[in-house]
Amino acid sequence: MCPVRLERARIDGDRLVDVDVDDGVVTRLSPARSTVPAGDVVDLDGRRLIPGLWDEHVHVRTWAVSTRRIDVRPATSPEEVAAIVRAGLPHADPGLPVVAVGMRDGLWGSAPSRLLLDEIADDVPVMVISSDLHSSWSNAALGRLLSIDLDHTGMLREAASFAAATRVEGLIADRADGWVGEALADVGRRGVVGVVDLDFDDAVGAWGRRAAPPVRVDAGVYPRDLDAAEARGAATGVPVNGLVRVGPLKVITDGSLGTRTAYCHAPYPGTMDRGTLEVPPEELAELLRRGAALGLAPAIHAIGDAANALALDAFACTGIRGRIEHAQLLTEQDLARMAALGIGASIQPEHMLDDRGLVARFWGDRAADAFRVGSLLAAGVDVVFGSDAPVTPLDPWLAISAAVTRTRDGAPPWQPWEAVDVETALRLSARSRIAVGEPADLAALGEDPEPHRLRTMPVDLTMVAGRITHSTL
Ligand SMILES: [Zn+2]
Repeated sequence: MCPVRLERARIDGDRLVDVDVDDGVVTRLSPARSTVPAGDVVDLDGRRLIPGLWDEHVHVRTWAVSTRRIDVRPATSPEEVAAIVRAGLPHADPGLPVVAVGMRDGLWGSAPSRLLLDEIADDVPVMVISSDLHSSWSNAALGRLLSIDLDHTGMLREAASFAAATRVEGLIADRADGWVGEALADVGRRGVVGVVDLDFDDAVGAWGRRAAPPVRVDAGVYPRDLDAAEARGAATGVPVNGLVRVGPLKVITDGSLGTRTAYCHAPYPGTMDRGTLEVPPEELAELLRRGAALGLAPAIHAIGDAANALALDAFACTGIRGRIEHAQLLTEQDLARMAALGIGASIQPEHMLDDRGLVARFWGDRAADAFRVGSLLAAGVDVVFGSDAPVTPLDPWLAISAAVTRTRDGAPPWQPWEAVDVETALRLSARSRIAVGEPADLAALGEDPEPHRLRTMPVDLTMVAGRITHSTL
């Protein structure tokens, strides 16, 4: 790779510098146009240059597949779903079933009919999956494709629906690797230089066979893949394929707020139910130890306050350090314990804006313990940001905006005392700095990062390991 100079970059407030890059790292910073460049020159003309952005929590394959699906979330009736699907048909991948997601049939006033879908597509198989994934609505062509009987409604529920959806997934499996490549090729537009891939289906194995991606990927390992990780010698940081390295050991210890399965100290209102603990403490400690023996750094999913407490117990008793994914509800005492134990928090600020209604409803009396960012930082906890894509879009500017403004769509800011400033939010979204010897993972912004413009921040140039992956210049 040839040396590149990013000329007249603005860093540290108002400093204009030339940034020389060679062999994937920053090799020199000099006052603008004070030295002779060695290779290609890109004139940034005073644009703000920032360290490239990381999305620390992505389900890459699931996200790439979801970008191919028709989104029917806005629909409030079967007719509206059918209209959205009809509009999406011309863009569908030929030869594959058309899959739509986000159906909310629980809110419909009228019953679905298979004929409605047959009318818009009589020979293209169509499956519309509900937003909670537990039911689906399909046409006759889908029934013929899978050789299943669909009644006049076209609806499948629970096991029958999961089975059908899994078979449809199987039909796209060999296309999904290509979709992952295409989807990741696009993230440079948002200044993204790296993602942590926490996909469920052996991400390390998948990245071993896929084409090398244009961004850094840390591919996570789940407990069921530990034997494979051991056989491969897959320790965190070991190279897999180009910019792909082995990521953390991911363990999911509880559920989520939306399905009221996040494991909490207090029951959900009106019930005796405290949520679901998926991995008991002794088992978690054992997994931490096994991961540590293999050189895998832990990333522990914990959402409810009780799940977070138990995760911290396991970290404390094993003496192993790592990070907690989500950490959505944390008692004051556990927040301090997290800092004292040196455990990091990998959080998704955009979830807070999606979930503020759920917090009020289910965690109302403990809302002050929910979605904290400023308090974590003040306590001394290392915080990093992510999207949990496809749960929210793979766009770090949404997380940055949510963390800074704590609002969107004109709503009043939610618990604004937990907000962070723009520079802090940028720092929590990056892994490198702009300094000699640091990775040449950089992004040049089209505007100054003003708080109210962050969500739509234009990015004019992105560089990953010294290679330009996106440019409007
Ligand atoms: Zn996730």
